[in-house]
Amino acid sequence: MRHQGFKNVYHVEGGIIEYTRQAKAQGLPVKFIGKNFVFDERMGERITDDIIAHCHQCGEPCDTHTNCRNAGCHLLFIQCHSCQVSYQGCCSDACQSELALPLEEQRERRRGRETSMKIFNKSRDRLRGALHIPAPDENGSSEQ
Ligand SMILES: [Zn+2]
Ligand SMILES: [Zn+2]
Repeated sequence: MRHQGFKNVYHVEGGIIEYTRQAKAQGLPVKFIGKNFVFDERMGERITDDIIAHCHQCGEPCDTHTNCRNAGCHLLFIQCHSCQVSYQGCCSDACQSELALPLEEQRERRRGRETSMKIFNKSRDRLRGALHIPAPDENGSSEQ
C-alpha cells in the first residue's frame, strides 16, 4: 500500500481502539463499524452502534459474544438477549437441559462422553480386525 502513495499505513492489530480514539480526537470519521472482538472478559468493545452480526439462535441482529453456560460445552457464540433468557445462556436445548442437572450429574455426563469416545476408537479397531482378509496360504489350500 505504501507504493501507491498511502503514507500512513498501520497494522490495526491491537489498534482498533487506539485508531478510534485518535480518529475521534481529530474529528475524523471512524471507518470501523460495529464491535471489535477482544479475547478477554469484555468479549468486545463497542465502536459504533452498528450491529453487523446476528444471533446464532434466532438470527436477529446482535453482536454479543458469549460462552455457553454449560461448562461441558463452553462454546463461544453470538446470542441476543431474548435467546439468552430463553436458553439460560446456553447454545442449545441439549446444553440447557444439561445445565439443569445437578453438578455431580453434569460431571458424570462429561466423563461419559469422554469414555464413549474411547469406546468408539476401540470399536473402530475391532472393525478393522473383522475386515481382515486372511492370506491365501492360511487355509492350507496351497499345500495340496
Ligand atoms: Zn436470539
Ligand atoms: Zn453449549
